Parts: sequence; structure tokens; C-alpha cells
Amino acid sequence: MGKIVFLIVDGMGDHPIKLLSNKTPLEYANKVNINSLLPHAALAFPSVLGRLAPESDSGVMADLGYDPKKYSTGRGWFECLGLGMEPREGDISLRVNIAEAVGSKLRSVRTYLSKEEFAEIEKAINEQVKLPLEFEFKAGEGYRGGLIIRDEKKRLSQFVSNNEPGYTVKFFGDKKLSFASKSKSDLIPKIKALKSNAVFTEKILNQFISEANKVLLKTDVYKKRKANGLPLPNYVLLRDGAIHDPKLPDINKKYGKLWAAVVGMPLEKGIASAAGMSLMKITELDDLDEDLENKADSVSRALDKYDAVYVHVKQTDALSHLGKYVEKYDAIERIDRILVYSILQKIDVSNGDTIVITCDHRTSSELKRHTNDNIPVLIANRKFNRVKDFGETECKKHHLKNISKATEIMPFVMKL
Ligand SMILES: [Zn+2]
Repeated sequence: MGKIVFLIVDGMGDHPIKLLSNKTPLEYANKVNINSLLPHAALAFPSVLGRLAPESDSGVMADLGYDPKKYSTGRGWFECLGLGMEPREGDISLRVNIAEAVGSKLRSVRTYLSKEEFAEIEKAINEQVKLPLEFEFKAGEGYRGGLIIRDEKKRLSQFVSNNEPGYTVKFFGDKKLSFASKSKSDLIPKIKALKSNAVFTEKILNQFISEANKVLLKTDVYKKRKANGLPLPNYVLLRDGAIHDPKLPDINKKYGKLWAAVVGMPLEKGIASAAGMSLMKITELDDLDEDLENKADSVSRALDKYDAVYVHVKQTDALSHLGKYVEKYDAIERIDRILVYSILQKIDVSNGDTIVITCDHRTSSELKRHTNDNIPVLIANRKFNRVKDFGETECKKHHLKNISKATEIMPFVMKL
């Protein structure tokens, strides 16, 4: 069996858009290199989470063959792992947003900070926040961070809500997933215990939030930004706290192939490393072309050493959340022109290699949110005959009948 590339284009699937001749951005985009795969391709059209609209963590897990309802212990575990922290069983690991509040209301869920500003805030929080338990806060990129609170006495619980109003948690037994929710109010909720054993955790997390709030107001970053009329970093939003190791079965052992990941975001890094993949050293770049060239290089190097490579591109999802469908189809064209082009210099689907192109969920550019629609999947390998096009409509019409769930893509591909 040849090499395998698994390309996940975040939120690539969409709905038909009137101004794009009733095509989706994926259908509208001119995809020369993807089209060159069509003579040896099959389409799939699986559901990711049934009627629920997935967040990226569950979408990526499902695409990589891990049922989120069976494995997800909370996104915070992957976020912290992806930031280079060391979440442990019994600690609580959370995703953090640096945000702006006015009184008890939320003005913005994200205050973008420079590297230097975020480093100062990280230091202030770690040195000045007073908690009865040991903790570590780590700055990520822009406004995203991770927090681990440790309790040697193992009193912490994952059964708590978020204080970020846009995300609600749902439990499947002791497994925990989060979903985007339409909040009716801009009042910042307190973190609440959802089971009686989580009252201690509720208290600790709310204490961290109010302490961090006080500390942030004393930082030079806050004072300088206030003087200059810039968005303020004065609040922390905590979400998706995880207590348990998701214990993903090792993907290398599961399928007998050595995997590498070319991913830049902490969440995707966390999932890939929890699955046992080797992470190629890479940072997510703001300029899409530079990011794609960087990832293309990295995939090319990974294919020299590894049997299979998972590569992720974020920007299509970000553009959809902003309603920028023109920029979205343009981004898909760039992905085709730079990344897929480069991958096809390295692998040959008519000669035993395989490429899978899909997304973790659809993100509608008109609704500006993730939807629960089935996702488009292209699987190119010499075992398949021609398909007409790669897009949502064609995938819906002509798809492999044995892939009805996203978790079935990976086992199917690994048996080709
Ligand atoms: Zn996503």
C-alpha cells in the first residue's frame, strides 16, 4: 500500500449561495488539481454527529476515526496538550479566552493580543492569581490560552458549565462535548456545577475568574490599551474543562502505519498528539499563501519519513464565520493551487497512493455558524473510477454507501 494524505479543510462544506450561481464555495471554486484526481476518485457524504452541529474537536476526532461520544472527555484536554502543557488525570484542563467585559456584560469574547502583551498577561496571572490549588496558565495565539488546575486530592469534576455564553456542554455518560449555542443574553454567566460532586470545581473556577479579572486590571497591557482606546483584556472565559485522559487508541498501532501531523492550531495539535501522531514543527501563519506553502513543505518532508500524513487548514472556517463566501472560495482555490498541487508532486493516486479531502463540519457563510449537514468527502485512489465533480451536491447524489458516519472514513481508507 502507498502513502496516504488526509487533508481536513476546516469548515469547508457550506450551503448554496445565490450570488455564487447557487453553488457552494467548494463547488464554485476552480480546482484544477483536485479535478485532476477525479478519474480515480470516490465520494462520500457522511454525517458527523447526527442532528448536532459539531465543533471542530468532535469533527476532527470523527474524521480521524474516533467517535467523539465514546472518547471526548472535554476539549480543554486537547487544547492544553496542543499548547505544550501536560494535562494529567484528575487535573482540570480548560480552554481560555481573554475577553472584554463591561460590568457584568460581555463586550467581546476575544481580545486579540500581541505576543509581548500576552506574555505579560501570562506572567501576571501565573504570579498574582491566588487560588488554594496549584495552577498553570499558558498563552497561546491572539486571545486563546490554556489553564490547568491541579488537585492532588482528586476532588475536581468535569460536570461544570462554561462561562463563555456561546458554548454549551453536553454529556454522554461521563463523556463531554461542547456545542455552539445561541445565547439570549450578553450577561456573563457564572460557572455552575451540573452535578453535586462538582460544587468544589464550580467554586475554584469562579474564584480563578474573579481573581484573574482583578489581576488583569492591574497589568500595564490593560492600562496602556485603556489609554489608547483599544479593546481591553479584562476578563477570562473558561470552557470545556476536562478531567480525564481521552485515551485515544494509538493510530499507528490501530492501522499499522506511521502517522505525522502537519497542523498549526493547538486543538488540532492536541488531538493529533493524543492519537499518537508525530507532530511536524509548524506554526499557523496569518497569511494564507505563506501558511499553505509552509504546510506544503512540511507535508513533503513528512512523506519522506512517514506512511500517512494528516494536514489541517484553518482559514476557510474563520472566513465562513465572518460571512466572507467570496474569500472562502478564493481560499479553496489557493488550497488547490498551492497545497494540493504540492502534495500531488509527491504522491500518485494512479499508482497506489491515496488522498482524502474533507472537512470537520460544514460552516455556513450565510448563517455564520457550523451546521449539522453531512460533509463532502473525496477519496482518490486507483481502485476507483471517475466521479464528475467534488462538491456537496455531487457527494449527496453519488456517494459510497458504506460510509454513513464520518468515523467510518478512516477505517475504509486504511483498508484500500
Ligand atoms: Zn472546525
